[in-house]
Amino acid sequence: MEPNDPRASTAGRVFLVGAGPGDPELLTRKGARILASADTVLFDHLVDPAVLDLAPASAERIYVGKEPGHHELPQSEINQLLIERARAGRCVVRLKGGDPFVFGRGGEEIIDLAAAGVPFEIVPGVTAACAASAYSGIPLTHRGIVRACTLVTGHLIDGRCELDWEALARPGQTIVVYMGVAAIGIICEQLVAHGMDRATPAAAIRNASVGSQQTVIGTLADLPARLGRAGLLPPVTVIIGEVVKMREQLDWFRH
Ligand code: SAH
Repeated sequence: MEPNDPRASTAGRVFLVGAGPGDPELLTRKGARILASADTVLFDHLVDPAVLDLAPASAERIYVGKEPGHHELPQSEINQLLIERARAGRCVVRLKGGDPFVFGRGGEEIIDLAAAGVPFEIVPGVTAACAASAYSGIPLTHRGIVRACTLVTGHLIDGRCELDWEALARPGQTIVVYMGVAAIGIICEQLVAHGMDRATPAAAIRNASVGSQQTVIGTLADLPARLGRAGLLPPVTVIIGEVVKMREQLDWFRH
């Protein structure tokens, strides 16, 4: 390797790179630069092929899955692969959908790397909440309407969705739900049971930022049924709160 080869500083290192929500142009320049010098790329199913194409043709590409309910490789094996490849002197890119630290299990991977003494860097990405917000014309924290925004996971464990409903039902905030398709009925029901108005607007955005984006608008009372009728499958991000009404004026994304 030449001394000025960009890989000189990347060899033996793991880069946890956020690939963004889908549109390849939403990848950061830093992410693109690092990908271009990757020797090994481990990627999951939410990563657009055009992002993966930024890695050299010669780079080893390993699909590690992570579709809901179907993990191609257990987390411990992913962590082990990252460590092994880095120790072999490779520039290893762990490419994750959205941002690695927002419901991306990036922390779990990094803890193992840190414990193994493998050097790593983290490159943030545009998380689904930001993409769903921007591409559906719903500002998450519109001044005068809300003063807070809470990101939650709707991921069900043993059929249960255990969130702090009392805190979530408090007024003045926007709630963004990741992985919430299966639990949407429970979520809307619990928020109403804890005092939120049934007429609170809510939006579900699928495939934010790409041509296949779909948006379903409703209220806490009818979003689950509307989602069911539209047959929206993951990846879907749900936005709940008064800001959803802003979409009537700000819906700009046409394809
Ligand atoms: N680390 C990712 C989230 C991974 S969890 C991030 O920061 O975005 C997977 C969930 O992210 C999906 O179930 C969905 O809720 C959301 N998601 C990811 N990409 C999305 C997209 N393009 N459109 C809508 N939601 C998306």
